[in-house]
Amino acid sequence: MIDPCSQESNPLLSIDAALAKIKAAVHPVAGSEKVVLKNALGRVLTESVLSPINIPHDRNAAMDGYAFSSKDINPEQPFTLGLVGTSWAGRPFNGRLQSGQCIRIFTGAALPSQADSVIMQEHVRTDGQTICFPANTAARQNVREIGEDIKQGSELCAHPKKLNAIDLGLLASAGIYELSVKRPVKIAILSTGDELTSLGQPLASGKIYDSNRYILSGLLTDASYSVTDMGVIADNKQLLQDSFIKAAKNHDVIITTGGASVGEADYIKEILELCGEVNFWKIAIKPGKPLAFGKIGSCYFFGLPGNPVAVIVTFQHIVASALKQLSGAPDSKPLQLTATCTSTLKKAPGRQEYQRGILTQDDNGKFFVASSGRQGPHILSSISRANCYIVLPTECKGVQAGDKVSVELIAGSTL
Ligand code: AMP
Ligand code: MG
Repeated sequence: MIDPCSQESNPLLSIDAALAKIKAAVHPVAGSEKVVLKNALGRVLTESVLSPINIPHDRNAAMDGYAFSSKDINPEQPFTLGLVGTSWAGRPFNGRLQSGQCIRIFTGAALPSQADSVIMQEHVRTDGQTICFPANTAARQNVREIGEDIKQGSELCAHPKKLNAIDLGLLASAGIYELSVKRPVKIAILSTGDELTSLGQPLASGKIYDSNRYILSGLLTDASYSVTDMGVIADNKQLLQDSFIKAAKNHDVIITTGGASVGEADYIKEILELCGEVNFWKIAIKPGKPLAFGKIGSCYFFGLPGNPVAVIVTFQHIVASALKQLSGAPDSKPLQLTATCTSTLKKAPGRQEYQRGILTQDDNGKFFVASSGRQGPHILSSISRANCYIVLPTECKGVQAGDKVSVELIAGSTL
């Protein structure tokens, strides 16, 4: 891909090509471990889980009412049955229902095997001893059949699945209390830069606070990831190299920010070449062009840009998919919508841009997006205001107000 305005000697890699290279290079972590169900949220299954039981386990009532046998229905005529007991949820009726009899039943309570139908309590009349059913009472209504949700032996959750709260509910309903899941991916994060000041320290002239580690820690909060925060490391080749080699020994991934470009104090790519291997370095996205991907020993390495907005964009569009793959979870693509852009957007051809926008939906269901403000890769305030990326393809030369654009919600944002 050639950017006509760029001074690059090598063409930049498209985002799709970069993702394909990652897909080919990254393999899921091998280890697995057993966890109890309540600790399985966000973990990735290593094997499909089958249901040991039928759900529902018993034929039970879907309504509060009266349970009876459809053999006792008098077609098209009202009829009366004798009331002989009650089935409560958790306390079933233990007797045998004879012809001409019915029982009081509550939602979730088991039906006696002789009953196959439930009538809603609102539809009958009773004197406390007999129940008068209306004409045209339907057979087999308001009953939850054995196994109608899940059949014994059928699949509850298919491997590989990253378990969410709903999955936990489903697994719990089948009595599953322990699961085999992938071990968490071990990730080391660090910030590089002589200018970085830790929180709690006064800010000297020429210094800035380190925001990137807070961004990365937040974005990496996931039960499938175990994160080591290695802090800030100065722009010192030896220090950086020593830290990378040390971290590579007991992590699956190292993610750095800063120093990935071509400045005098940008050492990341050089060090990666020295103590590992570089798979790719620059990609055709904006923000986030300098992004070094490679390996040190068996540890994957992502050298992200320094500017915080570029960190967020490259993490969400490139690193996240690699981590998902490492964790064994299936890959997923963000949902893209078409919206009418209400702002004019500047853009030069050559790189796919992720401009930050505010997406809204009108009463007719139509989507509109406006720029969230200044678009520099250092402008955190405008991405903080935004709820979406406006995705402008490589060849796009800018957008006029009224043009249609593709947008995707920023993970965790809502309309
Ligand atoms: P670099 O790629 O190291 O030249 O950094 C590019 C820009 O990002 C510079 O303005 C840095 O000061 C800034 N930057 C680098 N690291 C961080 C960080 N951890 N937090 C906030 N800004 C940073
Ligand atoms: Mg720097």
